[in-house]
Amino acid sequence: MDFIRYAEASAGLLNAEIDGVDALVEHLAGRAWLHDQCSDRDCMLLRKFQRELRPVFEASGAGDVRGVIDGLNDLMVRYPITPRIADHDEHDLHLHVATKSASVAELLVGESLLGLATLICDLGPTRLGICSATPCTNVYVDTSPNQSRRYCSDRCSSRANVAAYRARQKLVSAGASGTPSTPTERAV
Ligand SMILES: [Zn+2]
Ligand SMILES: [Zn+2]
Repeated sequence: MDFIRYAEASAGLLNAEIDGVDALVEHLAGRAWLHDQCSDRDCMLLRKFQRELRPVFEASGAGDVRGVIDGLNDLMVRYPITPRIADHDEHDLHLHVATKSASVAELLVGESLLGLATLICDLGPTRLGICSATPCTNVYVDTSPNQSRRYCSDRCSSRANVAAYRARQKLVSAGASGTPSTPTERAV
């Protein structure tokens, strides 16, 4: 797994509702080899980690560079990561989080932190954010070339576009029935 995928997985982890082992297994749908190890303790640890990691996404979305750096550094002290160079594809060496004796929660936390730390070093510290389509509170990782992402998903993006379109229509029809709107207003 490369660091962008790890970082994106961390957003997925934050957006997942991990209220029990079944939910955790579902979250790990593509990683069947981990299913047998999933425990209530993992779920509890991951919910705690979700609460601790969210402020990093909030800080990044608000342009608070210091908050992002300190937040991730603090979390890496609390959750030490053991990176390991994986050579299952010798032409594509990359880092894994060591899994020997690590629980599922430790593995997912390690992957999240390694992915996010690498992402902000490579792409910059303001690449994380909270979805702009209220009331959605999901987080996202912005890997777009011009850093233009504002929504957690295509679904939220189109929902927000529809809402903005309706608001504009309302404005136009209110303008038509009330005081005449100026051309500049209509163009907005
Ligand atoms: Zn790999
Ligand atoms: Zn959303």
